[in-house]
Amino acid sequence: MSPEYIRVPDEMLVGGKWRQADGPTTQVLNPATGQVLQTVSQSSADDVDEAVARGAEAANDPAWRDLLPHQRARYLHAIADAIDAGAERLATLQTFNTGKTLHETRGLVASAAATFRYFAAVLETSDEAMTTSRGDYCTWVKHEAIGVVGAIAPWNSPVASDAQKIAPALAAGNAVILKPAEWTPLVSLALARLIMDAGLPAGLLSVLPGRGSVVGDAIVRHPGVGKVSFTGGTSTGRGIAHLAAEKLMPVSLELGGKSPTVVLEDADIDQAVAGVMYGIFSSSGQSCIAGSRLFVAESIYDDFLDRLVECTRALPVGDGFDSASRVGPLVHPKHRDGVAAYVDLAREEGGRIRCGGSAPDDPELADGSYYLPTIIDGLPNDARVCQEEIFGPVLVVLPFRDEDDLVAQANDSVYGLAAGVWTRDYRRALRLADRIEAGNVWINTYKVFSISTPFGGVKESGLGTEKGREGIAAYSRVKSVYLGMSAEPNPWAGVPRA
Ligand code: NAD
Repeated sequence: MSPEYIRVPDEMLVGGKWRQADGPTTQVLNPATGQVLQTVSQSSADDVDEAVARGAEAANDPAWRDLLPHQRARYLHAIADAIDAGAERLATLQTFNTGKTLHETRGLVASAAATFRYFAAVLETSDEAMTTSRGDYCTWVKHEAIGVVGAIAPWNSPVASDAQKIAPALAAGNAVILKPAEWTPLVSLALARLIMDAGLPAGLLSVLPGRGSVVGDAIVRHPGVGKVSFTGGTSTGRGIAHLAAEKLMPVSLELGGKSPTVVLEDADIDQAVAGVMYGIFSSSGQSCIAGSRLFVAESIYDDFLDRLVECTRALPVGDGFDSASRVGPLVHPKHRDGVAAYVDLAREEGGRIRCGGSAPDDPELADGSYYLPTIIDGLPNDARVCQEEIFGPVLVVLPFRDEDDLVAQANDSVYGLAAGVWTRDYRRALRLADRIEAGNVWINTYKVFSISTPFGGVKESGLGTEKGREGIAAYSRVKSVYLGMSAEPNPWAGVPRA
């Protein structure tokens, strides 16, 4: 496959116009080969100013502002159709730029189209509620657009995370300024071309590639931006929340995780082994919800771990375009080095590397950012590799004695994004689902997603939720309207009828 097939013009989208940014260029890599795919120019704080001004005009234009829900929904359906029509190119582009397997990126592109269709349906079927009157008046609630919304995305699943922000924000009647991650701007730029070709009015979407500390920061600080939806690391999210507090601006934060997966002694072992492997090693572990901390019941610990290690060693590692590959390269050599440094730290902390622990020795993979699926045990839960998000194909495994011991260890984490439980006993599973602090719990399955189910984290994993019917509400303002029904002047004023 030639990278020429997916070449994206080096132009940002500002207020409906495509033009080259003036800033320094970023080299966008193919992590499977280490080769430069192309360069992309970075936008600036001035471009943010322009995007906000054009976005505010477009959001306030009666041609958009006054659309009825079923009319606005038509734009979302047209965008979904355009994504379907360009699906293979988008998936290919994402595999080139992120290293994810084509099988996975095809799924992500399909989910992006489904996200636009879902929010079109939610828009058309949302009701505005009359609230119960406590006097001589009627009252009801309206959801109004915020105006210009900032969307700041990470590098791990660009097409899906972009859609999860753009679709509900447009459905709610806003204009959106999207800032893709530095390493992966190509998919967002290609997606924006499809969206504009589908007929979205100019100004409603701007896509500004560039540095987080420049473009992202300018979006968050801009007085004309009324909400920011951020997905990324916890420390970046915390900084954004501080700035948002200064402006009293709402933010949605989807942040990091160190999610516990639990295998109880009565679990279906084959199912649990496969589920644990998928939970941590798919996407090469570069997933916020990766099941990266495994707790196994003491009585089956050794047997389970032996089986898990044996099956993990057999996982095919290779180029995402090879249909046999299950574990592609990490997104960037710098990220691979960071993951490797964590495994070195585990060694220093006294951990046992049960498999992996290095780059593969296959000479064909030598130029890519590959790292072998790695399993570590023998460390306590307070070891740094058991507490910090590694965001790579690295699993730490710990035993537990009983349910209380398990819950104490699982909850001993600053994160609370996800958890998995493998057991045949649904009573215990549901009890653990209640007791483990997490925004999402999977029982006898893992990392399956439904756009109709809200997604978010607790503790330092986030603030607010995306997806689900409430997904649109997160991009809306609530206005309560009171309609007086009395025909008489307010008696308090003592105004006689003339
Ligand atoms: P990151 O926080 O470094 O960057 C995320 C985005 O924020 C990028 O676009 C970046 O340019 C921008 N940014 C950086 N500094 C900024 C600033 N000062 N102001 C505004 N924007 C700024 O994260 P990353 O390395 O791109 O992504 C990996 C992280 O994302 C992991 O921690 C992962 O868990 C998290 N993540 C969370 C979810 C979720 O839904 N909870 C999903 C995917 C990824």
